[in-house]
Amino acid sequence: MNKKLAPFLILLLPFLGFEPLNEPPQWHEDLTFHYKILHQDTWLPMGFTLKLENIHSRMRMDLAWCWPPVSSGTRIPLYLYRNQILYTHGRFHPPAWSVGLAIPEVRSILTFSQKPMANLYQIIAHETTHVIFVSYWLRKNQNYPPYWLNEGLAMVEQTSQEHSKDCYWYQQISYLAGQNLFPLKTLMRLEPMKMSNVQSIQLWYMESYSLIYFLLRKHSNFYFKTFVSYLRDGRSFKTALWAGYRYTPQQLERAWFRFLNVQSRQKTFGPISKVGFFHDLGPS
Ligand SMILES: [Zn+2]
Repeated sequence: MNKKLAPFLILLLPFLGFEPLNEPPQWHEDLTFHYKILHQDTWLPMGFTLKLENIHSRMRMDLAWCWPPVSSGTRIPLYLYRNQILYTHGRFHPPAWSVGLAIPEVRSILTFSQKPMANLYQIIAHETTHVIFVSYWLRKNQNYPPYWLNEGLAMVEQTSQEHSKDCYWYQQISYLAGQNLFPLKTLMRLEPMKMSNVQSIQLWYMESYSLIYFLLRKHSNFYFKTFVSYLRDGRSFKTALWAGYRYTPQQLERAWFRFLNVQSRQKTFGPISKVGFFHDLGPS
């Protein structure tokens, strides 16, 4: 490198998106159409970039209404650490128990190499949903989207509709019926990072997943889009729900609980999955 240029380049690098990381080992970069992959292992797993683009196009079909026209030209930085220790001690400081993190402010996601690959792909889909959905929401609203909606949607988008049964959360909701559930009103008010009881947190996540699964997968996508866009515009939950689904909150709660009862009688799973996510949204 030309030595006279070096100091200038160091100043410029953060603006170009190549901020020095000050952490071992060295980062390698690969580009796909929609992701800038920064990885610590020399080589990416076989088929990784193709799979990432498959996930992205599947999500784009599912949530087309979330995509701004310009996003197709902006790659999402994906930091793929070599292992969980390097991930935890990296510059983003994710919680030690987390397996992935989204930082919507810089449209970035991070996780670490892990097996089986199916889990890793679910994590990437989950974190990508946060980045896309939060950016959709903030285009019209100054506040973050409600937790139950943001988390529930990211959990549902971990897999395609036809592979829902491979998802840990889908398998878990078969056991929700008959439990002491949070009523709808409570579920929407709670914030997982302010809860301390692990069982309650797990229940909150499962219920949020099951509610969004019911709203998105058991109804027309158009209903969901209408409902969410009303909420984003600052309309009340009651108004948004009626506009999208012609449900009152009471009717929704009854229909949702009926759905959980049906699920409890249909325990037809794929392989049991163990991927879980807790508090994976980065600092705001
Ligand atoms: Zn999440």
